[in-house]
Amino acid sequence: MWLQVLGSAAGGGFPQWNCGCPGCSAVRTGSRPARPRTQSSVAVTADQREWFLLNASPDVRGQIEAFPPLHPRAGRDTPLRAVLLTDAELDHTLGLLLLREAQTLEVHATPAVYETLRHGSGVLATLERYCRVEWRPVTPGVDVALGEGLSYRAFDVPTTKRARFGTGAEAGRVVGYRFTDAHSGRAAVYLPGVQRLTPEVREQLRDCACLLIDGTCWHDDEMIRLGLAAKTAAEMGHLPIAGPDGSLEQLRGLAVERVIYIHINNTNPVLLDDSPERRLLAERGVEA
Ligand SMILES: [Zn+2]
Ligand SMILES: [Zn+2]
Repeated sequence: MWLQVLGSAAGGGFPQWNCGCPGCSAVRTGSRPARPRTQSSVAVTADQREWFLLNASPDVRGQIEAFPPLHPRAGRDTPLRAVLLTDAELDHTLGLLLLREAQTLEVHATPAVYETLRHGSGVLATLERYCRVEWRPVTPGVDVALGEGLSYRAFDVPTTKRARFGTGAEAGRVVGYRFTDAHSGRAAVYLPGVQRLTPEVREQLRDCACLLIDGTCWHDDEMIRLGLAAKTAAEMGHLPIAGPDGSLEQLRGLAVERVIYIHINNTNPVLLDDSPERRLLAERGVEA
């Protein structure tokens, strides 16, 4: 199995169009070593011919152009076989509308996410006016074969984040995906949004070769400290990296070969290559 990180920034990207925080300013002016990042999305494949997109970011067009294995190989063609969604957030689903030139788009999503996209944000309702959408309902705990020995199993990621659509009580609002390669027996986990590493979620991370995990904020009160928002990371549905209860400490001892933070907010100091926070990650063998 191969995984390609197409984008590693949280919603808004890095820099964000209306943000003048220290990180966004530094990457704009080049005053600190940092590179711009597009909004989070990953592509996975078993054979480097057929690819599956994990979330469709608003930057999907540029992400496809920047990664030649996703280019068409004929007149009207794409190596993308389906889009797998972790939730219905706009920064994970707006890209679906940019894929509307497809004749048919296969979308894997839980019933709760599908419902939100059709009747809440209306992303799928709009998309269906342009192309055929084939919905594959995602059921946590059930193995789904993607071909060539690649399969996934989704798992529930509980959240108390306030819902913009629906009641917020629906099961399956947020899921993670654990991919398994039958040939190597190795697994990878995609988890761009996690509020709490419950025992059930931790169980899904165990013994995986590669974990791509929510690195939205360094501090829980990062946005408040910078005067940018009134919400903590937890209130926004994200477990912060730092602190005794942060993900960095909690991931210790989980027997994961490679940990990579993705979905990193532009306020997170790890985006600056010369920051002490980035150095700390490097010392722990964790990537950003
Ligand atoms: Zn997001
Ligand atoms: Zn910023």
